[in-house]
Amino acid sequence: KVTVLGSLNVDTILKIKRLPQPGETMAMEAKKNAGGGKGSNQAVAASRLGAQTSFIGKVGNDENGRFMQEILTTAQVDTQYVSVSEDKATGQAFILLQASGENSIIIDGGSNQAITTDDIYQAQTKIEAADFLVTQFETPLESATLAFEIAKKAGVTTILNPAPAQEAPQTLLANVDLIAPNETEAEILTGIKVVDAQSQHQAAKKLQAKGVKNVIITLGSRGAYYLTADQKEGLVPAFKVQAVDTTAAGDTFLGALSSQLKPDFSNIEEAILFANQASALAVQKLGAVPSIPTFAEVSAQLNQ
Ligand code: ADP
Repeated sequence: KVTVLGSLNVDTILKIKRLPQPGETMAMEAKKNAGGGKGSNQAVAASRLGAQTSFIGKVGNDENGRFMQEILTTAQVDTQYVSVSEDKATGQAFILLQASGENSIIIDGGSNQAITTDDIYQAQTKIEAADFLVTQFETPLESATLAFEIAKKAGVTTILNPAPAQEAPQTLLANVDLIAPNETEAEILTGIKVVDAQSQHQAAKKLQAKGVKNVIITLGSRGAYYLTADQKEGLVPAFKVQAVDTTAAGDTFLGALSSQLKPDFSNIEEAILFANQASALAVQKLGAVPSIPTFAEVSAQLNQ
């Protein structure tokens, strides 16, 4: 059982030839709305990959909010604790997708920023009943801090995806069983540029010195490195594929990992291998939610 506390955004993808110059007005080529937001992506991934999944989050009282509710429900994510903000619009990401394939993104956090500690107390039983609690940094820090405190008191294993990267308070880090940054986030949190075996080990050690127990650093097309609380380490290489869109690669990895990991981390290598395979499938398809594979699809690849 996985409970995800986090953000949901409607991704509005505007296809354009190139970025407009300052002062320039330009017509777009095409517009498309899709489900997104790190929290929602991770919940959809955990659910499609086999975990019974609940989501704690907030939408606005608007069309986008109903669109996101629908996406979660379709993915069989329990939305009992997705509450509705009366004064903030549903979170939205405006993605300027240029012909070159490059993305520029502007985010309106909206209702994601309106999650309060009261919302966390409301959902307390959902947190306590989970095997894993997963969160990121697209919702207020104080609600994440409280949720992790409740989780640890109940013996729930906690996973923090520190994205987008920001400094985290000691009170939160002390309750983190697994931190899973990508290379950029690991560098922002530790000041160590992750480029080779030595630097990834050093960055992970530094994160442990901040109070977290286990570390996984995702390394894009190189795979993922782990260092456990009992100082077991390893690199699980990525699958070699032709990437067409890496949006939500990290979210698919996180959701997949939390759907397979044992709370005592004894199968960490196996769980990372599964997560690598799930995200390798995701990067071969366009979009966030639409690219997330099912358990059957990942198993079929692994058994080849
Ligand atoms: P994020 O999307 O958060 O930046 P990463 O880029 O580290 O995270 O990607 C997360 C995981 O997705 C990697 O650990 C890897 O398993 C998989 N992945 C990402 N990019 C590729 C790629 N080009 N080829 C194969 N797998 C990839």
